[in-house]
Amino acid sequence: MGLTRLGVIGWPVAHSRSPAMHNAALRAVGLEGWRYQRLPIPPELFAETVRALPAAGFAGVNVTIPHKEAALAVADEATDRARAIGAANMLSFGAGGAIAADNTDAPGLLAALGDLRPRTALVLGAGGSARAAVYALTSAGADVAIWNRTPARARRLAADVGGRAVDRPRRAQLLVNCTSVGLRDSTTTFEDLPVAVDRIGQYECVVDLVYREGGTRLLQEARRRGARAIDGLDVLVAQGSLSFETWTGLAAPRDEMRRAAAFGDDLEPTARPPAPGAAERPRRGAER
Ligand code: NAP
Repeated sequence: MGLTRLGVIGWPVAHSRSPAMHNAALRAVGLEGWRYQRLPIPPELFAETVRALPAAGFAGVNVTIPHKEAALAVADEATDRARAIGAANMLSFGAGGAIAADNTDAPGLLAALGDLRPRTALVLGAGGSARAAVYALTSAGADVAIWNRTPARARRLAADVGGRAVDRPRRAQLLVNCTSVGLRDSTTTFEDLPVAVDRIGQYECVVDLVYREGGTRLLQEARRRGARAIDGLDVLVAQGSLSFETWTGLAAPRDEMRRAAAFGDDLEPTARPPAPGAAERPRRGAER
């Protein structure tokens, strides 16, 4: 029986923890003939590459920067939430190569919050992940304020998805950092974000979608000041678990995934994507 392939498409995608996380999950549930690979694809090749993936044995892929809007556009069908958010982070391939799109970033955030269903939230950022966060939190009944460095984008997000744009941070139960601040340089976090370090404890819970080895300064300070801190790896594992369960039909081994996302070795080298228009091969072993 041939390989059933899964993967993550991005540009760049070298930093992604998804291959380590998903390959650990596949091993843990005993799916020997499945592999999850990195697929570095530039924007101009995205649509034609995705259409070639089912014939190359792919059952589905995650999609990351900068392709999430293109992923929705290339799909034959999409969930209501992916349409409402305007972006997809997960594609599944059905019989005949039909492409179905979903957005698991939104339910992934709610899953990472556990029992917490905040009445009020402040979302920092107005990019792709902020759109998913605002959708998730407003759908769960929260009053959501949105701050962004470029205020016009926050206003557009509020008009498209919900919540309201603010030009100054508001007191709220939950703070979610959906900016890329802290990804490369942790020293300027409290200069780049509109939240003072000595006020961070006023939030009951702080989520940082950014993850990096050793953790982010935002979460270190939040924890030190008594806030509950949820890191980007928890959100990554939550959204990855939902993708895994859709593709395999099996319960995701979340503890294995969390361990592998943080410390696991990547078993799979970067995959060479199928050449667009490559000769069609019968899909082997991809039936779920
Ligand atoms: P994006 O669409 O590129 O948006 C980036 C956002 O960051 C924009 O709102 C941008 O503001 C803001 N920003 C960038 N530099 C800034 C600075 N120096 N000061 C203030 N704001 C700044 O990115 P995204 O897809 O939303 O992702 C954002 C972060 O979340 C990334 O680090 C990504 O790795 C992470 N992420 C994690 C997960 C997870 O599962 N843990 C999922 C998705 C994303 P402007 O509009 O003003 O440019």
